Amino acid sequence: MNYSRLLQVQREFFLTQQTKTVEYRKEKLLKLKTIIQQNEKLLYEAIYKDFGKSETETYLTEIAFVYNEIDYFLKNLHRLSRPEKVSTNLPNLPGKSRIIYEPLGCILIIGAWNYPYQLTLSPLVAAMASGNCCIVKPSEIPQHTMLALEKIINENFADRYVHVIRGGVEETTELLKLRFDKIFFTGSTRVGKIVYEAAARNLVPVTLELGGKSPVFVTQHADIDVAARRIVWGKFLNAGQTCIAPDYIYVHESIRSRLLEKLKLYIEKFCYTAGSSHYVRIINAKNFERLTRLLQPEKIYYGGTVAAEKNYIAPTLIYPAEWSDPVMQEEIFGPLLPVLTYTDLYETFDEILEREKPLSAYIFTGNKSEKELFRNTLSFGGGCINDVLMHISNGNLPFGGVGFSGTGNYHGKFGFECFSHPKAVLERATWGEPMLKYPPYTENKFRWLKKLL
Ligand code: NAD
Repeated sequence: MNYSRLLQVQREFFLTQQTKTVEYRKEKLLKLKTIIQQNEKLLYEAIYKDFGKSETETYLTEIAFVYNEIDYFLKNLHRLSRPEKVSTNLPNLPGKSRIIYEPLGCILIIGAWNYPYQLTLSPLVAAMASGNCCIVKPSEIPQHTMLALEKIINENFADRYVHVIRGGVEETTELLKLRFDKIFFTGSTRVGKIVYEAAARNLVPVTLELGGKSPVFVTQHADIDVAARRIVWGKFLNAGQTCIAPDYIYVHESIRSRLLEKLKLYIEKFCYTAGSSHYVRIINAKNFERLTRLLQPEKIYYGGTVAAEKNYIAPTLIYPAEWSDPVMQEEIFGPLLPVLTYTDLYETFDEILEREKPLSAYIFTGNKSEKELFRNTLSFGGGCINDVLMHISNGNLPFGGVGFSGTGNYHGKFGFECFSHPKAVLERATWGEPMLKYPPYTENKFRWLKKLL
């Protein structure tokens, strides 16, 4: 079936109104959960072939996320889908005002390669929970996971409701010509602009989940041991191929040596060596080469070992890093961790504020005013104080970027809002109407209108 025909079939099905009932949505969400549970082994094997990623890490960073999202909606869907009563203003009394959360219709979800399951299934869950039909286009780069997704979805759901399409740039370009009711894109800022432009031609709303350079600040008031442990985990998980991974560290000059020593210690403790089942490889030769080009041998403080045949790059500390270094010119998206030093946190924040808004930002500090400064001054999609990455795991928080790191957000109720239209409906009584708004207008009516409005 060609893409245009597929969309038409989905639209016809959507217009039958079947996807709108809460019962239908819950039944399909439960079905999706069962399918994933039955195919967990297949999903683990596929991701191992693409990344060499362990089952534990896959469960932790991919599968558990999707289960949590499904469980959230199974529990809360009745409440979320209920028309929301809001108060009615004086000129409309007697009357009732409601917000009806209606599904947008047919959704296109385009995924990135780094968390191939979570980044496609999690928005899919939210789109299904909101009552939409969906076409999902996972990234073509991790081939095995793309095929696994295609298999489990297309063999278990009707094309007219949810369908996975395989493909890369060419296929996505074709899909982007169609008039969807929403496009949900996860990927780079560069491709985000292409998607936004294509969507604008049909006035299709978009959510763009993009990237950027996410800083982590470690101040002289930090617990250095905790900071090092959490940064090493968050940075080298998935070999740094995480959109919200700390991109670089800004450490207070007075504690840099102690932090560097601790970072080394935890890299060794966590066994991030070539062939280790705890450490993921770089996704492909193209990214391996891109990352090795960013390495300046004279700046390698620790690590720096690479093995092209395995696409392996050891966790690498780059120190002393500067903004003029190649590694500071782009989002790293790999296991290279530049360490810069600062003496004045205010000045450092000012410097960051002049750059593109990052997807995430983190600070390690025990100092109240530094925490406040971080919360209130910097602009970023989301982040943590005294941790990294973990904000993504709280479904009560919105997840998304700002500026060049993205637009819109999802997870939990924010995912529901992302794929729904809040339709405003005012219901008026047919009695008790002062005739003030109707002509002919008189002095007396005008006086009353001024009092009322
Ligand atoms: P990418 O932008 O290269 O690709 C994303 C998707 O777009 C893929 O499905 C791909 O097939 C498609 N695509 C690529 N080029 C295209 C083109 N010219 N026209 C149309 N479609 C095209 O991104 P990626 O390399 O898969 O992922 C890495 C980027 O994604 C990083 O910048 C990372 O920060 C970001 N990311 C963001 C999030 C988030 O939630 N904000 C999550 C993961 C990754």
